[in-house]
Amino acid sequence: MTSREDCDRRDAQDALAAFRDEFVLPEGVVYLDGNSLGARPRAAAARAAQVVEEEWGQDLIGSWNTAGWWELPGRLGDRLAPLIGGAPGTTLVTDTTTGNLFKALAAALSIQAERAPGRRVIVSERDNFPTDLYVAAGLAELLGRGHELRLLDSPDALDAALADGPAVVTLSHVNYRTGALWDLADVTARVHAAGALVVWDLAHSVGALPIDLTGADADLAVGCTYKYLNGGPGSPAFLWVHPRHAGSGTSALPGWWGHARPFAMEPTFEPATGVARFLAGTQPVVSLALVECGLEIAARADLAAVRAKSLALGDLFLDLVEQRCGDHPLRLVTPREHDRRGSHLTLAHPDAYAVVQALIARGVVGDYREPDCMRFGLTPLYLRFVDVWDAVDVLADVLDSRAYAEPRFRERSTVT
Ligand SMILES: *Cc1c(COP(=O)(O)O)cnc(C)c1O
Repeated sequence: MTSREDCDRRDAQDALAAFRDEFVLPEGVVYLDGNSLGARPRAAAARAAQVVEEEWGQDLIGSWNTAGWWELPGRLGDRLAPLIGGAPGTTLVTDTTTGNLFKALAAALSIQAERAPGRRVIVSERDNFPTDLYVAAGLAELLGRGHELRLLDSPDALDAALADGPAVVTLSHVNYRTGALWDLADVTARVHAAGALVVWDLAHSVGALPIDLTGADADLAVGCTYKYLNGGPGSPAFLWVHPRHAGSGTSALPGWWGHARPFAMEPTFEPATGVARFLAGTQPVVSLALVECGLEIAARADLAAVRAKSLALGDLFLDLVEQRCGDHPLRLVTPREHDRRGSHLTLAHPDAYAVVQALIARGVVGDYREPDCMRFGLTPLYLRFVDVWDAVDVLADVLDSRAYAEPRFRERSTVT
């Protein structure tokens, strides 16, 4: 049986332990939802004040030049790129993941329209994050020339779908609900061997594990900055395009920011060279500026060490749940094998919603996903082993005492 003291000892030896001081975490809370909204970097408050008071308040419109507002999407993209194995000039921080996926899929289809004109099918997973499916289905409908979205009912169905000659495959590297991890390099190679392109959604993997898009030879990728990258609520997302496509894919949302000469104000669109063509319009500068605080921390963390700690925290969580909660109807939804899981763990329970609410009331913040899933995000930069011990301690008590049966824990808020 692992003791709390054992966990204290592991924290004392943890090479990443000092990163916790760089984040603001409320007293008495074990935050296991950093996979949904990362904690606030301490530096973000001062940065926000600087952007609002100095750059906006004092320098007003001059800040587009003097504070580098115009260059932010590309500059932050270059800061993010090492986390995903991207070369300089291949990545933008801009827009939302939803919007970037639309642009990425449309670009991939436009590339295929030249290379392999008969191919019009987009393949994804039924279990993918809903916005990814809505975007793909909406794009297929909009294009409407025999384009369609086909969904895999299980990972094993990929090869059969590839055999049908799709245009594009789009998958989430880590599944938002189950935490299951695709082998990015292996899938990319299989998709290419079948003559298709791949668009990865890295929302639940960027910042949590090493990613090498260039090494895997992937085509395009998108992802969030407000999850493991701690960019802040609604912070802009990213878009990565392999250099071989940067001059060929057309943006389905050509806006003036993506023009070769934005301030020439020409009536017709001429794409900028490289990934910049995928910029659309004016960016949310305050929110965008804050992304840098999280990226600055991530740049100093060794991602291999982050991954190793994430897996160790996860193993501890699972061992403790087995030791302490074995009599309860919990089912592990996430694959247990290290090479098949991301950085959050999902347990199913018949009263999952109420259990999550009861945990939150006791300061253990996870979240609920339909139909019966409790998600626990493990963020190695600010979680300690002792936090995992405390969280399972509360979980065991909530389950043993049936504290979750209180009616107030069944009331649904808008955001679950
Ligand atoms: C979190 C998440 C999103 C969110 O997209 P937004 O446009 O930021 O709302 C999209 N896709 C996946 C796979 C996600 O996990």
